[in-house]
Amino acid sequence: MDTYKRIVEKLNSTGIKYEEVDQTAAKNRSVDELVRVTVMTYGDGMSTLFFKNERDEYIVILRRDDRNVRTQEVKKLSGSRSLNFAEENDLEKLGFETGLVSPALLGELQEKFPVKIYIDSMVMDNEKVICGIGREGYGLKIKVEDLLKVLGKYKVAEITEPNLKRQAGVVSKKRILTGDTPSGKLHIGHYVGTLENRVKLQDEYETYILLANNHAYANYFDKSELINQNVYDVFLDNLAVGIDPNKSTIYLESGIPETHVLYSFFLNMVKHSRALRNPSVKDEVRYKKLDPSLGFISYPILQAADILQFNASLVPVGEDQLPVIEQAREIAKDFNKAYGNLFVMPEGRVGRVARLVGTDGKEKMSKSGHNAILLSDDEETLKKKVMSMYTDPNRIKASDKGTVEGNPVFIYHDAFNTNKDEINDLKERYTQGKVGDIEVKEKLFAALNTFLEPIREKRKYYEERPDEAKDILISGTEKARKVVVQTLEKLQSMVGINKLIEKE
Ligand code: ATP
Ligand code: MG
Repeated sequence: MDTYKRIVEKLNSTGIKYEEVDQTAAKNRSVDELVRVTVMTYGDGMSTLFFKNERDEYIVILRRDDRNVRTQEVKKLSGSRSLNFAEENDLEKLGFETGLVSPALLGELQEKFPVKIYIDSMVMDNEKVICGIGREGYGLKIKVEDLLKVLGKYKVAEITEPNLKRQAGVVSKKRILTGDTPSGKLHIGHYVGTLENRVKLQDEYETYILLANNHAYANYFDKSELINQNVYDVFLDNLAVGIDPNKSTIYLESGIPETHVLYSFFLNMVKHSRALRNPSVKDEVRYKKLDPSLGFISYPILQAADILQFNASLVPVGEDQLPVIEQAREIAKDFNKAYGNLFVMPEGRVGRVARLVGTDGKEKMSKSGHNAILLSDDEETLKKKVMSMYTDPNRIKASDKGTVEGNPVFIYHDAFNTNKDEINDLKERYTQGKVGDIEVKEKLFAALNTFLEPIREKRKYYEERPDEAKDILISGTEKARKVVVQTLEKLQSMVGINKLIEKE
């Protein structure tokens, strides 16, 4: 019988009143997510934490979600030398489905297994708590006094301390991870594909921006100087478009070696044939005319480590990167299935232009394609690039009727010219053969120049303050690394990879 049915039957048989609360709005089961999207506060929530000691006894702690367990205290109370979180297979053995533990069945468990139950005294302050009901997307709201009736043998003890962040009502924000390969300066395609979204979303999300230098080495392992220069340019470009270092964390990928430990574990999880099938990789090999290194073939797996190590739920990217995110989702799913829920499923968010064409009319403006208008281009360079842009190849004279659809000059007008009347007028005259390419391009130049002006200025600010810029990168990398270390430790303990050398 499934957990949920057993719980409901049990509660109904004792005549206890309870409420089943709908938590389906929360996409994952994390407490933060529940607090964010449902009416629950951290103080209402109660978690059931399963530990196992060196004698294979189960120690179960019931504590409110605004408190942290003091493990030392629990060890003393239970006479345990070591306490580890119970693993997936332990919980299965005890009859729980993945992630669906509930205190309502603890009494029964004590009849079959060595289970000691400790309730933190602060739980007693609540009239009601919300805990698990053994059903995905739903919670059990129950009076504490009623819950005690089905608990079996338990002890109430002072075994927690306040979780200050949670008590201050600070709901951790959902995370974003996104970034760029330092293969050159950023361009206006990056802006509409991803940068604009990063800037917009940095208030709402805890944002991590990756300067993906490890990725760049996949194509240029012997060009470290060039890569470092590119890293710096990409870094300044991010600041220039409005990434605020007080809100977002910008970090250097190679400054977190733990990413590579995750990456090498993930490499085992992806079949060779699957890696070769990745459409992003295939496309890039084609248009960059690569004889790809092994590092390049497996870059989506490194990128999965980049994303999953932060448990990022959103990844703002251009359309060409969606298959890479799909790969990260597969890895997250397979890991969670094998070892329990560690990773959040990331989702891609494509910008208002999914894939901006190049100035040469090729399908994608690209750093490595020499068809880009850079965010850092000065006025003169911009003018040259715009005036020599590819337009409608069938139009020879200004009096020829031209095509607007798919014409890069008009695509750029639509994306960057804020004067919609001007665009409509130009389009109309273009299709009637009543305007020359020069006028269309000059107006595009003016619009792009207005767009780039404040970006150039911000870039200049940081160019002139290299120490301030460097500090941002150093502290960003340190901050990001702390998060990653935690994820790696969790993964290693879930996998049990170092079990044989762990000290008790
Ligand atoms: P490279 O040619 O070295 O691959 P790139 O120009 O493709 O460089 P990336 O660093 O690979 O740039 O991509 C950074 C981000 O910008 C990714 O999210 C990518 O999807 C997005 N992006 C890149 N080019 C475009 C484009 N032309 N239109 C929209 N988004 C883009
Ligand atoms: Mg790319």
